[in-house]
Amino acid sequence: MSGATLELQNVAKHFQGVIAVDSVSLVARQGQVTGLIGPNGSGKTTTMNIITGLYPADGGVVLLDGVDISEIQPYRIASLGVARTFQNIRLLPQGSVLENVLLGAHRHQNANLFDVLLRLPRLARSENAEVERCEQLLSTVGISHLRDVAVGGLSYGDRRRVEIARALATKPRLLLLDEPAAGMNFAERVTLAELIADIRDMGITVMLIEHDIEFVSRLADHIVVLNFGREIAEGTPAAIKTMPNVIEAYLGLEDA
Ligand code: ADP
Ligand code: MG
Repeated sequence: MSGATLELQNVAKHFQGVIAVDSVSLVARQGQVTGLIGPNGSGKTTTMNIITGLYPADGGVVLLDGVDISEIQPYRIASLGVARTFQNIRLLPQGSVLENVLLGAHRHQNANLFDVLLRLPRLARSENAEVERCEQLLSTVGISHLRDVAVGGLSYGDRRRVEIARALATKPRLLLLDEPAAGMNFAERVTLAELIADIRDMGITVMLIEHDIEFVSRLADHIVVLNFGREIAEGTPAAIKTMPNVIEAYLGLEDA
C-alpha cells in the first residue's frame, strides 16, 4: 500500500463571521503520523471537514499527491483514498461489527448506507473475499471476537476500533483520525497508539487530531499547532512542547 501526500496551502473557513480556520498550511507525508493539535474550538475538526470535502474552503487549496481536491465532492475524495473517523463516532448501532466494517468495503458502490445494510445478508454470503478482507481488518484492530456483536452494545474503545476498521476497509492512502483517544481509558489509549503505529507502518499516511498533547507526542513525527484557527507552531513533538506560545495556548498565561 502506498500512502498519499496531503498538502494544505493557506486554507481558510468562516461561518457567518466566525473565523473557524484562518490560514492553515501543512504537509502530511507517507510513513509519518502528522499531528494536528490545539485547544477546543481552534479549528481542528473544521480543517478535517475541509480536507474530506464536507465543507468547501473559503480560501486556499488542498492537494492530494499534488492534485487540487478543494472543489471535489466528499464521495469522490473518499474514492481517491481518503478515509476518516469522526470525533463523535458514527456507526449503525443495530448492525453487527462485521456489517459496519463491510459498509466501508462497499463505499465504492456509492450506495445509500441503509440500502447496503438491507443487502448485507446477501453480500455476506456472496462476497466472501470482501468478508474475509473485513475479518482480517477486525483482527488488525483486535476485535475479531466481536464480529457478530451489535455495535450499540460495545464499549467506547471497541466502537472506536470498529470505526477505524471501517475506515481501513475503504483501502485508504490517507487516514484522518479526529480525537480517536477521547473518552478512552489508559489501557485503551495504549492499544490505540499501537494500532495507529501499525497503520502508519502499513504505508498509510496518518493525520491525527488530538486535544491531548501527550498522546499525540508519543506518535507524531511532526505536529502542527492551531489556536483560534491560526497555525501558531509546527515542528517535532519535542520542539513544540518547549515553545512558549504553545505552552501559553494550552496552559494559559498564568502557567506560561
Ligand atoms: P476543534 O475541532 O479544534 O475543537 P472546530 O473546528 O470544531 O474546533 O471549531 C472551530 C470553530 O468553528 C468554533 O468556534 C466552532 O464553534 C466553529 N464552527 C465549527 N463548525 C461550525 C459550523 N458548522 N457552523 C458554525 N460554526 C462552526
Ligand atoms: Mg473537533
